[in-house]
Amino acid sequence: DSRGSAARIVEILADLQEKLEEWEPELGKMDAVAGDGDHGQGMVLGVRAARAAAEKAADGGAGARTVLVQGGSAWSAEAGGTSGALWGAALTSLGSALADDTAVTPEQLVAGIVQAIEAVERLGGAKVGDKTMVDAMVPFRESLESAGTPSDLAAAGTAISTAAEAAAEAAEGTSDIAAHLGRARVLGDKSVGTPDPGAVSFSRIVARLGEQLA
Ligand code: ADP
Ligand code: MG
Ligand code: MG
Repeated sequence: DSRGSAARIVEILADLQEKLEEWEPELGKMDAVAGDGDHGQGMVLGVRAARAAAEKAADGGAGARTVLVQGGSAWSAEAGGTSGALWGAALTSLGSALADDTAVTPEQLVAGIVQAIEAVERLGGAKVGDKTMVDAMVPFRESLESAGTPSDLAAAGTAISTAAEAAAEAAEGTSDIAAHLGRARVLGDKSVGTPDPGAVSFSRIVARLGEQLA
């Protein structure tokens, strides 16, 4: 039911918080090579705020949609940075594909994830090859879309895991290119040889999501 979905969203955010806390130093180092070194910190601040807001909404009896929309607003407000604004918008966009009074369906989940990625593409304006999280998001979205409608949430998890492998490969591939956008622009050439931190964090987050759902 809708309460069950809301509780599950909070659990998934709590798991992601734990993982991002673990990855924080590594993501920070990756960002320090050609950026300002705060990507790990921004992601941790964002996910902590999102989890707390989602938990509060769920405790108050909110359904899946409200829980994620509130989580997304908190992420943008607390994380700071480019990735914070984009991740907040992504969560809010994913939430708006869900309902408050019924359990999350696999169709809603897949449509919501596709919509969330499209929101990042639209808001950030990055294209594949600009060395941003979009480089990992686009192959992920394409793999997920080509898998068709999953029969249940576990099957959605399997499709997400498969798509996450494409995202991880694409994130690794960003090592070979120079950054064009954001703060990394100034030191773009320095980034060659290091993957884009936002692409790496995205690919790890979706891999974890796939595992959690399967
Ligand atoms: P900031 O760059 O403000 O310090 P972060 O370090 O948290 O923020 O995030 C940096 C990441 O944000 C980059 O690695 C990249 O993946 C992503 N990013 C930067 N600009 C854009 C953009 N225009 N569209 C999509 N992603 C972007
Ligand atoms: Mg940064
Ligand atoms: Mg910054």
